[in-house]
Order: sequence, then structure tokens, then C-alpha cells
Amino acid sequence: MSLTATGEGGCLCGAVRFRVDGAPAHVNFCHCRMCQKASGAPMMAWATYARDKVAFPKMQPRIRKSSARAERGFCGECGSALLWQRPGGTTLDLAVASFDDPDALSPSEHIWTESRVRWLKLTDRLPRYRHQHGSDEDREAS
Ligand SMILES: [Zn+2]
Ligand SMILES: [Zn+2]
Repeated sequence: MSLTATGEGGCLCGAVRFRVDGAPAHVNFCHCRMCQKASGAPMMAWATYARDKVAFPKMQPRIRKSSARAERGFCGECGSALLWQRPGGTTLDLAVASFDDPDALSPSEHIWTESRVRWLKLTDRLPRYRHQHGSDEDREAS
């Protein structure tokens, strides 16, 4: 895993830009149905940061509640999916593909693989968890 010390990114149209200070706490691939629906893609890659390490120097992302326990942020102009967070939480997840240099943030695990799209072949050796990151019994044999 290579984690950059700083980084910048933004949405497709450029209206929302973000800047992070420091390396993320972790980076993962999420295969949950909500990420699939929100992105229109088979999975999303997320990098988790403390909220106070993330700045939005231009327009703020629009935030919408996406489940009982989570909110998602997107560009109000172009609709690009940008972030995931728990209401009142101390961290937020930024979409790795939205970074200007997404190669710099390499995911270290797969989560919510119970809803992984079956035609998507995973060939890496990263840990896979059926649900959120956690217990060994939740981990798939690889
Ligand atoms: Zn935009
Ligand atoms: Zn997800």
C-alpha cells in the first residue's frame, strides 16, 4: 500500500475540489449495494480521513442521507459521487477515483463482498470481508 502524505481531487466538472492533509487511515474497495447504486459502478474505492484533515476550498459537496446510518456527498452541479460519512462522525471517506492521482492510494482490502458483482473477477490477494471490515470469521478464504 502506498499512501500519499497530501493530495487533491474533485468532481468531474471541477465545481467541487477537495484537499487532504496527511495519509488516510485506511483505503478499501466497497462492494455494498449502496455504493453500487450511488456510483453506478460495480464497486467503489474509498480512503478514510479525519474530517478536520479534509478541506473543500471551492463549492461544498451536497450531502444527502443514503441510509439510516450514512450520508453521501456529491457535486451539486455534475452529480459526481465524492464522499461517504456517518452523521456526526469524526471521519469521512473520499472516493479514491476522484483524486487527481488515484494511483497514489492503493486499497488494502475488499469489504461487503457478499454483494460483489459475480462477473467482476478479483485477482488480487487482498483480504475480503463479507460485511464491513472486522472479524476473521467474516473473512473469505482466498
Ligand atoms: Zn461537479
Ligand atoms: Zn459501500
